Amino acid sequence: MRIEQDLKLGFKDVLFRPKRSTLKSRSQVDLTRNFTFKHSGRQWSGVPVIAANMDSVGSFDMAKALARHKVMTAVHKHYTVEDWAGFIRDNDASVLNNVMVSTGTSDADFQKTKDIMALSDDLIFICIDIANGYSEHLVEYVERVRAAFPDKVISAGNVVTGDMCEELILAGADIVKVGIGPGSVCTTRVKTGVGYPQLSAIIECGDAAHGLGGQIIGDGGCTCAGDVSKAFGGGADFVMLGGMLAGHEESNGEVIEQDGEMFMKFYGMSSQSAMDKHSGGVANYRAAEGKTVLLPFRGPVENTIQDIMGGVRSTCTYVGAAKLKELTKRTTFIRVREQENNVYGKE
Ligand code: 5GP
Repeated sequence: MRIEQDLKLGFKDVLFRPKRSTLKSRSQVDLTRNFTFKHSGRQWSGVPVIAANMDSVGSFDMAKALARHKVMTAVHKHYTVEDWAGFIRDNDASVLNNVMVSTGTSDADFQKTKDIMALSDDLIFICIDIANGYSEHLVEYVERVRAAFPDKVISAGNVVTGDMCEELILAGADIVKVGIGPGSVCTTRVKTGVGYPQLSAIIECGDAAHGLGGQIIGDGGCTCAGDVSKAFGGGADFVMLGGMLAGHEESNGEVIEQDGEMFMKFYGMSSQSAMDKHSGGVANYRAAEGKTVLLPFRGPVENTIQDIMGGVRSTCTYVGAAKLKELTKRTTFIRVREQENNVYGKE
């Protein structure tokens, strides 16, 4: 047994130190990033925020709404190939280029990914997603997907340490998805005691991935626009959001009325709810590692995404970053023991 004494940090442990800036207004800040991906050589330009591949977040409707802002959606893996065919029929490249096709790591998943990717050349992102990215099986699967799709952008995860980021990039991933346990409906840390504070995971994994010419997605743990900025400031190339985009019209969750008020169901992809729906219940050798919550129904996602983008633009003006790309270079975090003043309740 060993104990690492370095304190690891989450979003709640830091704030940005403001810096002198020549920017007059947040309208001068450009949130668009241009990436050329390591293995596929593909180029992509857009706002690097991604709706999570959860079945009450990453829906086809979410993809259509967010693509208007050049924001991405990792579409969840529970749509059939026929569903995809219908979606693709209605959509143009501006939507499909901002969509990730999610997959697990079974042979059936591999075949389904092949069938979906064959539907349109405009689909360019594949998101290989398993809860424990430390499984040797993931590395082999990434190699297999890379061999089958040499010119597609492959994201793989989830991991939280530099060594595993490097291994996945060397196996063929362009992007590594980072985060174990920070999610809003995740109970992994409670059920297993495993995890890594998300800001430190992003900083360490970003370093490792960038050293090899790869990118990372900071996945999970953002509760407000300020956290999204902190993830970018820490070195995330993309930031993935579940809870912040749940509960909207486009999230396609189940709507429930209670005492005249509307709520939407939101649950973790390893929760009892998800396993009942998609796998015929929780297998007897495992425990559910996600929870189910009812969120007040929030209407269309448009206002929320504007609010998030406005917050990140404002962070950039406080630290003098004219482009999102410059934010991490302009970031000095200060460690704190306080965040916002909650005397009149939480925002
Ligand atoms: P959020 O933005 O809601 O804080 O986090 C979203 C992320 O939580 C997802 O992208 C995914 O990585 C993770 N997640 C989703 N469902 C579950 C679950 O049931 N268990 C765990 N451990 N993580 C989950």
